Amino acid sequence: MTTPTIDDARSVLADVFGYADFRPLQAEAIRVAITGRDLVVLLPTGSGKSICYQVPALVARRRGGGVTLVVSPLIALMQDQVDALAGAGVRAAALNSAQSAEDQRDVIRRLHEDALDLLYVSPERLATPSFRRLVSKLSVALIAIDEAHCVSQWGHDFRPDYLEIGALRELVDAPLIALTATATPRVVDEIRTRLGLPKDAPVVRGNFSRDNLAFVVEHRRLQAERLEALSRAIRVAGLLEGRGRAIVYCATRKTTETVAKALRGEGLPVGYYHAGRTQLARDRAHRAFATGRTRILVSTNAFGMGIDFPDVRLIVHYAAPGSLEAYYQEAGRAGRDGLPARCVMIFSKQDLVTQRRLESASASELVKARRREALAAIERYANASGCRQEVLVQHFTGGEDAVACGLCDRCLDPDVEPEVEVEREAPPITPLAPTDRQRIVSAVDRLRRPVGRTRLAQALRGGRAKSLSRGGLLTLPEYGTLAAYDEKSIVAAIDELLEAGVLRRTGRRFPTVWMANKPVRDTSEPKKRPARRTNRPGMIARALDDYRKRTARKLKWKPYMVMQRRVLTAIDKKRPETHDDLLRIPGLGPAKVERFGDDILQIVQRYADE
Ligand code: ADP
Ligand code: ZN
Repeated sequence: MTTPTIDDARSVLADVFGYADFRPLQAEAIRVAITGRDLVVLLPTGSGKSICYQVPALVARRRGGGVTLVVSPLIALMQDQVDALAGAGVRAAALNSAQSAEDQRDVIRRLHEDALDLLYVSPERLATPSFRRLVSKLSVALIAIDEAHCVSQWGHDFRPDYLEIGALRELVDAPLIALTATATPRVVDEIRTRLGLPKDAPVVRGNFSRDNLAFVVEHRRLQAERLEALSRAIRVAGLLEGRGRAIVYCATRKTTETVAKALRGEGLPVGYYHAGRTQLARDRAHRAFATGRTRILVSTNAFGMGIDFPDVRLIVHYAAPGSLEAYYQEAGRAGRDGLPARCVMIFSKQDLVTQRRLESASASELVKARRREALAAIERYANASGCRQEVLVQHFTGGEDAVACGLCDRCLDPDVEPEVEVEREAPPITPLAPTDRQRIVSAVDRLRRPVGRTRLAQALRGGRAKSLSRGGLLTLPEYGTLAAYDEKSIVAAIDELLEAGVLRRTGRRFPTVWMANKPVRDTSEPKKRPARRTNRPGMIARALDDYRKRTARKLKWKPYMVMQRRVLTAIDKKRPETHDDLLRIPGLGPAKVERFGDDILQIVQRYADE
């Protein structure tokens, strides 16, 4: 018989699956497969790997060949595949431990009658003597190994049962296709040796860069900081505006629950998923996420293998995962629809210690060495100074051909130090000694015109800001005499002097202070705009501080997650009147302005007009 051609395959594709043509790499894989050669298919998830063995299976069948055996580790997915094939008129069935004895007998009967085109089987099943007896009597056209990286001890998902596949090959004389979405060059080598492929068996390798994914690493250690980074990521990804879904991966079951609770406290539609929950609870969580009733799912890595939602806009790893392979597989679930999506890894060195602890104490030296290597790769990724996607793609292909993505945090902000400090709660105010308070008064008394509180405080601390060169601040004898205090403490002391009536408030556009009992002679402040507001310096910042504390309590956030302190003072200083004004204040992104903007403007308005 002549060897089949790609046109034979194309007509199967059209007749059975209804697709007009193969994708380029599918065609490449199928050209090899239909000639009966062994083959490794390394394509990213979603690129259509199943077609790469289903079509050759059916081509063989049309030409009188036997059944195709498909080894797959995931029983739930197996049934989906079988149902989908049955829907296309393909005779497919599965054999696994989830079936009743009767169903299993039925499948075996159909096998004996040669009435099946594809048989999906779990790797545990391969090892049983009864399956071996069965399979040695069958005519097998092709063996397909799904998730083939599970055979590798170098991989992140080693399954000992996969080693049985080698023995299967001694029983069955049929070509083999190994398929995976995740394999470094070393894992590909191991797939070849363990599955008994020739050393030169071709590899059809896809392009692993994903041009719609923006990779980001957030260096955060404390829980509160992680939560803040997480809720910001959720806002930035547009989840609050009802866009798509998000999956948050946590390292432990307990964390999934605490994180889900915290997000729920913010009023977000959140579910959680881990293998420790009852089957019912897991099904419910999955269904709620599938139907969109919850749009954020917090989960361990138990969720997701083979689960495919096209509109996942955000994948957050709440802590570093165990390997880059696991990371890329999980992060790769974002943006399957090709639209922009974000992949955020929250990382701290401490996470690597946690990962090490998750490993069983009885692990062999070899396994431990591999684990160390995997974690070192994660750390290199987190601390990369160049493009994140380049690091990932190079890890998988071993090649040097990756190009910068232009989307990741390193591409967008190459000058920012990788390590980012998060603002902590500001230190408490230090009261000024009486003589130091007096220094404030004598400084103001000496000035020729009123002065802003902050500028005055900065001058008394000996600041060098350019703005201090105006108004004689630098030549005051008091300049630099209060360097022992922080700016906030000095400003607080000025406020007290205002309250006590020693100083008074003056100024039009800019709030300033002046001696209580002294007329202002020379105000060279610009008078272009009419006075619209009396100035109550500090009031706005204080009112905003109250507001953020109230809001934080309501949302179960930390106050600085609502607004950082420097944002409060910036608002007080700038007196914004519109959302656009707010957007110009550093630290207030579009999501915050959207959420809190109206409240903020109202507060500014209220106190400015008093
Ligand atoms: P993988 O196993 O690589 O994750 P799937 O086999 O699940 O990918 O296929 C992903 C999607 O692509 C499926 O919706 C499938 O129907 C579709 N698909 C696969 N091959 C083609 C093709 N040649 N033309 C159009 N759509 C295809
Ligand atoms: Zn990049």
